[in-house]
Amino acid sequence: MPDRPPRAPRAEPREIAELKQLREAQPELASAVDMQLALVDIQRRIQSRVPLPWIQADAEWLKAQQAAGRPLVRFADIPLDWTDFRLTFRQTADILNRFDALEPGDHKKILALAREGHALEPLVQRWYTTTSGVEPSGDRSRADHRPDHPPSLDQVLVLAMRPFLARCAEVVMQRADLTAWRHGYCPCCGWEPDFAVITPSADRRLICGRCAAQWSFGAHTCPFCSNDDRTLITSFATRDGRYRVYACDVCRRYMKAYDGRSATRPVMVSVDSIATLPLDAAAIQKGYLG
Ligand SMILES: [Zn+2]
Ligand SMILES: [Zn+2]
Repeated sequence: MPDRPPRAPRAEPREIAELKQLREAQPELASAVDMQLALVDIQRRIQSRVPLPWIQADAEWLKAQQAAGRPLVRFADIPLDWTDFRLTFRQTADILNRFDALEPGDHKKILALAREGHALEPLVQRWYTTTSGVEPSGDRSRADHRPDHPPSLDQVLVLAMRPFLARCAEVVMQRADLTAWRHGYCPCCGWEPDFAVITPSADRRLICGRCAAQWSFGAHTCPFCSNDDRTLITSFATRDGRYRVYACDVCRRYMKAYDGRSATRPVMVSVDSIATLPLDAAAIQKGYLG
């Protein structure tokens, strides 16, 4: 038997390679790329340790939730390991602080929350329950506005929860048929989309900003206010046709998309959200809000 060739060193994950390539091509994005590389690194490390959750929900319940416009992942379904969560939470805050994406005062408050023995767990549970709208009693609302909680806490919580919620989304997207979901918020965790992808068949799929679940949504409907008057949606693309912005002239918010129709790779939100920072600047200059 011929000798096996020596095993090649393990290849760098594609999103890391793409981010490094982006830094070469657009040095003005270097700092944003470096912050993203640090965030992707902790998220990948934690996510590889998170088990696929066993979601105890029967088909009837899943159907009823969807019919009521309520998402499918309950807090108890999330395979949260508090030691890992605390670590991700703290490291995320440190990275944002290091790249000046967090006020130093907020950073201190957030670290204090991570240290306080049993403060973080109920806070995370309450935050998820109120922002997901998964329980019949609650309406989805954006944040828990308490004076002692800095506004940037949301951003840190979203990033720190992602490795755990992304595993839930993997399971839910396999188990539940989400084709009938017509809402502008995530069918898994109820959060807002923060990116989109245009498929080769010209459908637009929204991507959740918290758990990365994807769902189809009308290409010319605003996910934030449901405006579907095409004359009140302003759309423009980058010169290379790779990315597109859909901006709503009713609520003034916008959504960026990766145009997969002539693309050579699938959408990678961690890369594409940084590559499109110049598009954010263009949209904001036209008077739209992120
Ligand atoms: Zn989600
Ligand atoms: Zn709108």
